[in-house]
Amino acid sequence: GIEEPLKRADMAMYQAKAAGRNTLRFFDPSMQRVIAERASLEIDLHAALAQGQFTLVYQPQVSIGGNSYGAEALLRWLHPVRGQVSPAEFIPMAEDTGIILPLGQWVLETACAQLAVWAGQPDMAHMSVAVNVSPRQFHQADFADQVLATLQRTGASPLRLKLELTEGMLVSNVEDVIAKMVRLKSAGVGFSLDDFGMGYSSLSYLKRLPLDQLKIDQSFVRDVLIDPNDAAISRMVIVLAESLGLVVVAEGVETAEQRDFLAGQVCRVYQGYLFSRPLPAAGLEQYIRSSLNTRP
Ligand code: C2E
Ligand code: MG
Ligand code: MG
Repeated sequence: GIEEPLKRADMAMYQAKAAGRNTLRFFDPSMQRVIAERASLEIDLHAALAQGQFTLVYQPQVSIGGNSYGAEALLRWLHPVRGQVSPAEFIPMAEDTGIILPLGQWVLETACAQLAVWAGQPDMAHMSVAVNVSPRQFHQADFADQVLATLQRTGASPLRLKLELTEGMLVSNVEDVIAKMVRLKSAGVGFSLDDFGMGYSSLSYLKRLPLDQLKIDQSFVRDVLIDPNDAAISRMVIVLAESLGLVVVAEGVETAEQRDFLAGQVCRVYQGYLFSRPLPAAGLEQYIRSSLNTRP
């Protein structure tokens, strides 16, 4: 019939649009494969939550003296056939389909329950946990209520919970964004601005937001020793954060040279493979204990 050729033309058109419009794309079968794979992953995503295929791992945030005061919770999906699927792949999908709402709530609930457990362990009681929040989740009218109810239900201390937001979600509806943040902040919840430097950096709204932390995006950290532009951007972010009274965290620190360069710019908190990969909760406990023992 006529449907198949039309579908193929459609796929080619989407590819052309994705390539920035005003261009040509011919259909090729690999397009169909990519789209079919995406569709089947999307279907699997619906079942994954109910089937308990998600876990959280925790990556320590380390201060200049080698102490960890917190960890970032990162989502992992172990697909029964494909194995580990990267959040970079499934988070955008979960956003598009709306699954991010129950999934994001599961992440919050699991991280808060973990915080409550750690509060009872002397070595871990000081640790805070940072949870990534996606735009669609944050923009729900009752987002602040959900967070407060989750804290209550799990018994986690709001003082130990940090929410990581991204720049893009803070630029529209600024008044509403600020109202939600202020409400949570007054309950003790902290805020971190993730991937800083990648989005629209309107510096005027930045000072209106009740933030605690800025995270320098790892793309700048990666080439900080090689690319003078990245070095300049990371220096700018550090100075900016300092003058706004915010803590700067450098993400994706992989080498001692990167850490030393950042330390020279007076960035005091790091996260990255140099210190540790993201670990299951028990692995993080072990990491924290062994770093306590080796401290001079
Ligand atoms: P992000 O929040 O910026 O998280 C940092 C990412 O950098 C993580 O990737 C982490 O594993 C990775 N990373 C940490 N240290 C290093 C390093 O030294 N080198 C390199 N190359 N990478 C490093 P991951 O876990 O794959 O997560 C990717 C993104 O997916 C996150 O970026 C975040 O935007 C999103 N994400 C992860 N978990 C959640 C979640 O629970 N909810 C939401 N909404 N998004 C999440
Ligand atoms: Mg993050
Ligand atoms: Mg980041």
